[in-house]
Amino acid sequence: MTAKILNGRPIAEAIKMEIKSEIADLREVHGFAPCLAVVRVGDDPASAVYVGNKLNTTEELGLTSIHHHLPAETKNEELLALVQSLNENDDVDGILVQLPLPTQIDESAILELIDPKKDVDGFHPINVGRLSQGRESLVPCTPAGVIEILKRSGIEIAGSNAVIVGRSNIVGKPMAMLLLQENATVTICHSRTRDLPSIAARADILVAAIGRPGFLRSDHIKDGAAVIDVGINKVSDPSQILELYDGEELEKRLAVIENRGFTLVGDVNKRDAIAKAGAYTPVPGGVGLLTIAMLMRNTVDAAKRRRGID
Ligand code: NDP
Repeated sequence: MTAKILNGRPIAEAIKMEIKSEIADLREVHGFAPCLAVVRVGDDPASAVYVGNKLNTTEELGLTSIHHHLPAETKNEELLALVQSLNENDDVDGILVQLPLPTQIDESAILELIDPKKDVDGFHPINVGRLSQGRESLVPCTPAGVIEILKRSGIEIAGSNAVIVGRSNIVGKPMAMLLLQENATVTICHSRTRDLPSIAARADILVAAIGRPGFLRSDHIKDGAAVIDVGINKVSDPSQILELYDGEELEKRLAVIENRGFTLVGDVNKRDAIAKAGAYTPVPGGVGLLTIAMLMRNTVDAAKRRRGID
């Protein structure tokens, strides 16, 4: 079997177009555009790129945004005060504090202070609790994006065996809750799971959120499974690439390492997934592209709920 490639780009674009037209309606009928506040602390280069992409997307879709960039030495109390002021600012619909935060900051205290109604990352314990109870909540963006990929690609979730490898609060656990809500039979695996291949190989839907390049191989994949690769790993050693890619793609990856110093690799061995799975999300170009689209979705949903609009 050769797996169907599930490209994230057209799905992300379709979602963005839907959101853009919803925002245009909100402007026309209700006279406002939802507002996302993004807070970045320090000068982590990856965070700068992520925040830049998020702000550009707000502009592209017609959302308004507020950007606070604070110095690396910002005190915990200062950041708490900023979050509190954003909570109290009635014009702000969504608050996103870009992680990671500098070590002097108490990350949990910051995330727990965010008004759950404005918590567009879906990390607040109230939203986590509501999600686990199957109630309306703001849902973490990456797992929400996976559900969109599955549904919009016509992959049946209800009744399927779904196996998630990884149990982080950001991906693995909310992914499990969302798949359960869609009536999959869900198994969560982690580093202490015994005989991972035999469990993973029972999955109709296999979600990899591990953080180890090319970790899931042929013996983890059931024939015809939908393999969703959430992993994003920087690989700079060409010898690691030889095991993962063939032919043209191998040449391309080696050239990228030569030019840029690294290439981005998923948690699934692509060569094995293509040979055995029924469907497969590539890295890059798969799940990663949905995350920002779902952040915009959450911002619009938060705005509508706060303002009592159906
Ligand atoms: P974490 O490091 O928080 O979690 C990794 C999980 O994988 C843990 O639960 C860990 O188990 C499990 N794990 C590690 N090694 C093994 C093993 N040998 N066998 C089985 N399970 C194992 O990572 P995240 O969830 O934050 O991210 C996972 C991946 O997804 C990363 O590559 C990250 O870059 C990517 N990512 C992509 C996003 C996007 O597309 N936008 C967003 C967020 C993440 P244990 O709990 O026992 O330690």
